[in-house]
Amino acid sequence: MAKNKDYYEILGVDKNASQDEIKSAFRKLAKKYHPDINKEPGAEEKFKEIGEAYSILGDPEKRKTYDQFGSAAFDGTGNAAGGGFGGFGGFGNFADFDTDDLFRDLFGGAFGFGGFGGGRNKNRATKGEDSLVRISLTFEEAVFGCTKEINLDLNDKCDECGGAGGFDATTCSTCKGRGRVVQVQRTMFGTFQSETTCPDCNGAGKSFKRTCSKCRGKGVCVKNKTIEVSVPAGVSNGTQLRISGKGSSGTNGGANGDIYIEFKVKEHPLFKREEDDININLPITITEAIFGCKKEVPTIYGNVVLAIDAGTQSGTKLRIKGKGVENPNTHRKGDMYITIKVMTPTKLDRKQKELFKELDETNLEVNPEFKEINKYLD
Ligand SMILES: [Zn+2]
Ligand SMILES: [Zn+2]
Repeated sequence: MAKNKDYYEILGVDKNASQDEIKSAFRKLAKKYHPDINKEPGAEEKFKEIGEAYSILGDPEKRKTYDQFGSAAFDGTGNAAGGGFGGFGGFGNFADFDTDDLFRDLFGGAFGFGGFGGGRNKNRATKGEDSLVRISLTFEEAVFGCTKEINLDLNDKCDECGGAGGFDATTCSTCKGRGRVVQVQRTMFGTFQSETTCPDCNGAGKSFKRTCSKCRGKGVCVKNKTIEVSVPAGVSNGTQLRISGKGSSGTNGGANGDIYIEFKVKEHPLFKREEDDININLPITITEAIFGCKKEVPTIYGNVVLAIDAGTQSGTKLRIKGKGVENPNTHRKGDMYITIKVMTPTKLDRKQKELFKELDETNLEVNPEFKEINKYLD
């Protein structure tokens, strides 16, 4: 039977020490005696001993067994002796420890761990950036569509190096072009593999004898481009249009970005758009309202003649079917709504004044509305 070892003494902690105290003591000692750091004779032995002690005391279950039976219960590697204590993972079973944290802390510097699975691969295909451009349109341009040129700065493949970023490329010998390397660490917990970005090529997988000076190795440069945009008929204020694949160049074979166009439609002095319908106000004279008339009305498709009935009131809304905006999706045309405004003349010549005075002496309160209000005035 193996000599009973005092794991508490090895870690320099009290028998009643908390798990945190044990962990902290272990860290301090493991750093101190790590063979990569401590070259003194016996350091490695001491290091192994510390690891063994921690593998037991660091695990509350094993610690309990140890407290009861002593180190003889274990085979010296932290595993239960003779298989009598099934279920103990023992050394090399990382799940027993919060290894990430521990490894980073302990070996981060010493082994140059590049993190656990981290590191961005420069070889990865990346889609180019999207751009947003606002285009200002007149009311008519929005209704009927038009062609517009936009001017914007986009990342584009470098002409100088053809997008490679440099000249005379050689495959990185360290990673053989993969951009990533597998590091094998032998620790007291066992063999540990981790993949990290290749330190020699920084993940590119290759290096250039000469880096392109125009794009400084990026493979893309900013270029000012003019792009023709075909604005579909019927767009409205705030409509967005996506021009797929015309944005900035992707890298490593990634797709180009998209250009989003947002339309800002200027207001029209007469036509007010409401979805696909157009509203206008139509002023008529007091006599036109009384006698009725035919009125020429402007529409976005040219003038039309509108019949206004005798006795039309101000505020009457008339509809002209199909004279609204053609919907860009359904291709159905909206309608036009005409709101009649009977204009009270504000400037009359003498003759007109006389005529109105004469009229005023007659009874003009013939509408039922007058009767209605007069009821409340009696
Ligand atoms: Zn270049
Ligand atoms: Zn490499």
